[in-house]
Amino acid sequence: MVLEDKLFTVKYVPDTISHLQPDNEKCKTCENKACTIVCPANVYEWDNVQNKLIVNYENCLECGVCRIACAKHSLKWEYPKGTKGVTFKLG
Ligand code: SF4
Repeated sequence: MVLEDKLFTVKYVPDTISHLQPDNEKCKTCENKACTIVCPANVYEWDNVQNKLIVNYENCLECGVCRIACAKHSLKWEYPKGTKGVTFKLG
C-alpha cells in the first residue's frame, strides 16, 4: 500500500494557520533536516530554490516525531485548535 492510500484512511479538518512553526533561520543551518526524513506523512520538504522549509501542515498526523527528531530545536509545535486536525477512522 502506498503512502497516499494509507493517508486516505484518516480524516483531516485543517486549521487556517499552521500548528507547525519552524524557525527557518535554524533550518538553514541544519545539516540533516531530519523532519524531511522521519515524518510519516511527508509534511516537510526542503526547497533549495527558496532556501526554506515547506510545511504541508494539513497532512500532519500529530505524532510528534518531528519535534523530537529536530536537532536544532527549530520547531514550535502545537496541537491544532479546537476540533481541527486529524481524526483516525481505524484507530
Ligand atoms: Fe509529521 Fe508527525 Fe511531525 Fe505531523 S507530528 S509533521 S505527522 S512527524
